[in-house]
Amino acid sequence: MGYGPEIKEYSDCRICPRECGADRNAGSYGYCMSSALPRIAQYGAHRWEEPPISGTKGSGTVFFSGCNLKCIYCQNMEISRMETGLQVDVDGLISIFLELGRNCHNINLVTSAHFLPTVIRAISGAKEKGLSVPIVYNTSSYEKLSAIKALKGLVDIYLPDIKYRSSRLGRVLSNAPDYFDVASAAVVEMLDQVGHLAIDSEGIARKGLLIRHLVIPGETEDSFRVLEWIRDNVGKYAHLSIMSQYTPEYVREKESPYARRVSPQEYEAVLDKAVDLGLCNVFTQDISSSSTAYVPEFDQLRR
Ligand code: SF4
Repeated sequence: MGYGPEIKEYSDCRICPRECGADRNAGSYGYCMSSALPRIAQYGAHRWEEPPISGTKGSGTVFFSGCNLKCIYCQNMEISRMETGLQVDVDGLISIFLELGRNCHNINLVTSAHFLPTVIRAISGAKEKGLSVPIVYNTSSYEKLSAIKALKGLVDIYLPDIKYRSSRLGRVLSNAPDYFDVASAAVVEMLDQVGHLAIDSEGIARKGLLIRHLVIPGETEDSFRVLEWIRDNVGKYAHLSIMSQYTPEYVREKESPYARRVSPQEYEAVLDKAVDLGLCNVFTQDISSSSTAYVPEFDQLRR
């Protein structure tokens, strides 16, 4: 399978806010470490997402290799830093979507921002061939507003991170000082497109927005500011996952203040803030079970 020059956006690539201009059709890599043809590191039924996403049959998750953000604490370092896995074109992706759609509650695209033109074609093609389950778009939110607008009508459920509010954290942890400005604009557009999360009588999400926030060690004040933004801009009925699964094992500089776990006190303080702000649709995780080998299950915040 060649690189294929047929998708012109991959020449002089400016798909994401990095705007590095790599000629991915010629096999060059940009910041995302990806040429033009997607590589799928893994796909299958995934049961570790929030209950309305995983349901009973699992979420049909497609993990894309490469990443345009590359956070220093990334849990998926092996696949975010290099091209690895099965190389697919648009037709290959359509086949994967249709296969997963037969057995899972949804199709869950994990970190596909750097393959946007291919993903748009594949979603459209799969829907034309009868795909009927919701499309979940699982993103760091470091995406251009134009990219999210291009997904209008194709994505049913947005699963975006809002990682940090401060430009200092964006710079230190993700080499993206503009992270919050970019991500917050993207999330507002997502809400506009799909509204709040709608869950059917079986407890399965059909449409809407579910925001994720990972608590960072030593940075609870920034988490508070993220939650305040969510309450003020998405509303107190926003569906939100406050995640405890920060894994310092992946931080290379062992002297770094980020080379430790989040303490139970820090995590509880962020949950208390959510309650104080009146956020009423919050998923939580059991912090004591957080490790590289195990992603803690989600529970509902009840206080
Ligand atoms: S998608 Fe990749 S190559 Fe394109 S601008 Fe972003 S980081 Fe650069």
